[in-house]
Amino acid sequence: MKLCEQILLYVSNELAPQQQEQMAEHVRTCLHCQQQMALLRAVETAAVPPAAPASVVEALLAKTTRKKSFFARWKTVLVTACTVLVVAVMGLAELHNKEAAQQDEAMYAYVSENLDEEYTSFAEDLEEFEAYF
Ligand SMILES: [Zn+2]
Repeated sequence: MKLCEQILLYVSNELAPQQQEQMAEHVRTCLHCQQQMALLRAVETAAVPPAAPASVVEALLAKTTRKKSFFARWKTVLVTACTVLVVAVMGLAELHNKEAAQQDEAMYAYVSENLDEEYTSFAEDLEEFEAYF
């Protein structure tokens, strides 16, 4: 069990070279130490500080290469989807502008029609007014 207690020092490479070798030998046959090591490595990977040494970053990148290729594979699809979306939004905006323009036209037509009516009625009023005097 004494060897098992050194697992943390062994993982962080803090034992004397001879002890490191001894632990390596021990870990090969000790299930408890293997589990401890797996756990320690998992924690270490999850808690890598932002300013990790380049070697650690490289190791992590190597581990996540599969993830990177996954994104690389989907990048084209994503870019295409984004392009389609932008085109669709632009198309909708243009359609909306057309609709707005049509609405404007309808409003102008309505206003000018009513202005004509008002003008006509004003002219009639004027005629009536002139006839009165
Ligand atoms: Zn052990």
